[in-house]
Amino acid sequence: MTTVVYPGSFNPITFGHANIVERSLKLFDHVVVAIGTSADKDPDIALRDRIELCRAALADFGDSVSVEGFNTLLVEFVRTQNTKFVLRGLRTVTDYDYEFQMLEMNQALDPSIEYVLLPTSNEWSHVSSTRVREIASFGGDISAFVAPCVVDFYKAQRRP
Ligand code: ADP
Repeated sequence: MTTVVYPGSFNPITFGHANIVERSLKLFDHVVVAIGTSADKDPDIALRDRIELCRAALADFGDSVSVEGFNTLLVEFVRTQNTKFVLRGLRTVTDYDYEFQMLEMNQALDPSIEYVLLPTSNEWSHVSSTRVREIASFGGDISAFVAPCVVDFYKAQRRP
């Protein structure tokens, strides 16, 4: 069975992330969505909530997908999952620059790990967690970009 680790902030998980998971299951038998704490990002959704939202949003994939939190180096987490593959999604040239820098650093830390970069599908290329957070913070409709569990999460947050 081939496993791939899909790391990210998932703050929150969007249909863009879910599309990358779905398409990667044509290449891998199992995807571990790995939700990290990033030094330069300050996630406004607690790690526990991000894990729960990912589990609910990806429930249709059944046992093919699992969701974990991690607070170690990515390469260390990947070793614990008995795989040598890491998955990332690419939307823009900016994503590409960022991903390349990150993967080169990670390759220096552990050259045995391979990185699979899947381009976004046209449908979701404009969707980002940052925009979703912005729209949600003004009470806007995010249902075109995220699963119903995420919509409900933000609704509950706005309740006094
Ligand atoms: P990070 O903080 O590590 O960038 P994100 O949750 O923002 O975490 O993204 C995780 C991965 O998913 C990244 O590789 C990112 O490029 C990719 N991704 C995010 N949104 C989309 C999308 N709409 N289409 C394809 N890939 C995406």
